[in-house]
Amino acid sequence: MSDIHNNYKSVLHNIRETKKKISNFPRDFKLIAVSKTFGESVIIQLLEKGHKAFGENKVQEAEKKWMGLKKQYRNVDLHLIGPLQTNKTKKALEVFDCIHSIDREKLVKKIQNTLELDTNLKSKNHSFFVQVNTGEETQKSGINLKDTYDFVLWSKNEIKLNVIGLMCIPPVNEKPAKHFIKLKTLSDKLKLPFTSMGMTNDYLEAIEHGATHVRVGSAIFGKREVII
Ligand SMILES: *Cc1c(COP(=O)(O)O)cnc(C)c1O
Repeated sequence: MSDIHNNYKSVLHNIRETKKKISNFPRDFKLIAVSKTFGESVIIQLLEKGHKAFGENKVQEAEKKWMGLKKQYRNVDLHLIGPLQTNKTKKALEVFDCIHSIDREKLVKKIQNTLELDTNLKSKNHSFFVQVNTGEETQKSGINLKDTYDFVLWSKNEIKLNVIGLMCIPPVNEKPAKHFIKLKTLSDKLKLPFTSMGMTNDYLEAIEHGATHVRVGSAIFGKREVII
């Protein structure tokens, strides 16, 4: 068995063990395999195992890799987990099924305009997560915690964006738990069904705190050559 198959198996095993520990494991839990920086031949190993949900953090890289793969493998579910520049909105909507990095009014409006102008694109029924800067880090994308509630309601009710949950990336040198709790609490208050949180170092802890979508890269594909 290849390393990737072994890694994948242990991640699934770890998730199953954690599932036993918690009472409310989400019914539509999703493991997003983050394939950024890895090429098609590596990704295919997981596609061949029947895995469907993948994450990429760059629109151009994803387009290059996935336009072909999506034709070869049906029902791939591709998630944009990195920041989205407004000028790449259309491309992003073409390539991705779900976008986790909604964080400003301009982007929400641009997405909705783009979908309204293109019924074909609209029929893909994209879903969206609002990214929350739970650590209030100045350099990080994501909307401030205090602005999130109104922003989500506005995006959903006025702009009619299909917001399904909240997403966060905790600061690297802090314990992630308090950020997971903040995100989950706010998500519950907004009655959103999904929370995207947890990466290789903390996905099990995130699940214990109510994550429905975990984004796991290196635990599955191995160390990345390029740090991004
Ligand atoms: C790269 C990345 C991940 C996956 O990171 P790993 O530590 O390799 O699991 C998850 N979420 C985001 C937003 C990322 O950019």
